[in-house]
Amino acid sequence: MIDLRSDTVTRPTEAMLATMARAAVGDDVWGDDPSVRMLEMEVADRAGFAAAAFFPSATQSNLTALLVHCGRGDEYIAGQLSHIYHDEGGGGAVLGGIQPQPLSQDAQGRMGLEDIAAAIKDDDIHHARTRLICLENTFHGKVLPQDYINTVTGLAAERGLASHLDGARLFNASVATGKSLAELCAGFDSVTLCFSKGLGAPVGALLLGGERFISAARRWRKTLGGGMRQSGLLAAACQYALTHHVERLADDHRHARLLGEWLACVPGISVAEQATNMVYVNVPRPYCADLEAWLAERDILVAVRPRTRMVTHLDVGESDVRRVASEIGAWCAANT
Ligand SMILES: *Cc1c(COP(=O)(O)O)cnc(C)c1O
Repeated sequence: MIDLRSDTVTRPTEAMLATMARAAVGDDVWGDDPSVRMLEMEVADRAGFAAAAFFPSATQSNLTALLVHCGRGDEYIAGQLSHIYHDEGGGGAVLGGIQPQPLSQDAQGRMGLEDIAAAIKDDDIHHARTRLICLENTFHGKVLPQDYINTVTGLAAERGLASHLDGARLFNASVATGKSLAELCAGFDSVTLCFSKGLGAPVGALLLGGERFISAARRWRKTLGGGMRQSGLLAAACQYALTHHVERLADDHRHARLLGEWLACVPGISVAEQATNMVYVNVPRPYCADLEAWLAERDILVAVRPRTRMVTHLDVGESDVRRVASEIGAWCAANT
């Protein structure tokens, strides 16, 4: 099976499972799981933060960041298509009484600087209190320009707002640019990292921040049901991924680039964009269902849409993307 629907679909490798089986564990709600503590301390240090907390998912980590930065009647500014606003069930509003202020984004994923400045509310009883600006890197596979990040975090600081980075795929940005985790996290008050995307761990995310922020986050994590017990088993998988699966993200990026180049030669469809481990392809709507079914019959899983996303990862090799391109080419030659 070749599964290009997402980089979340990876299975733990034998070596990762062996590391998990050997992990030293304790009860993390009591603060005594050594594997969790080691992962938290090591990654916080590497990213330039004082502290970190291990979460079952990046969604819960992002939600916790909202709950710590904002209270009832506060608001956060985020991109209209950002994951934290668009793809997390409205958690901030559902559980925290926090109002989102979504703003439109350009093709690079940037909200307009003037739009952000205009969206920051004055201190007036008519308005929600603006507390937080959220960015996402990578956004739909694209690395946010560093000067833009610096300008936005600078603006937040100047206006007394906090800034949060949803860095679910920040390791892809790091490998693509050669910038360290610390460089990419600089200027933010908190950052979410995910280990179950391209890094290939089965479960796990980290929320990074200052000491006081992370203490408050641990309280919310417990409230949300994210306090886990012998979670060192999971942290060990993340630690393994950190050691063995970061540099290899360059392979995923190369495979996505090749897939993009090969699909660009297929008449009937067009490649809209390609960045890091993602390829976006325009497929005429009448083709979508047939092409998806035809690929599935050939053990290729792609969610075919008018704007189809294909994502490369640990379980996809060069011969796999070659086969996907040739099968799509064959279907298009016969049907378009
Ligand atoms: C996948 C994703 C998340 C959520 O991650 P889960 O661990 O699946 O909850 C958050 N933000 C971004 C940008 C993502 O791609």
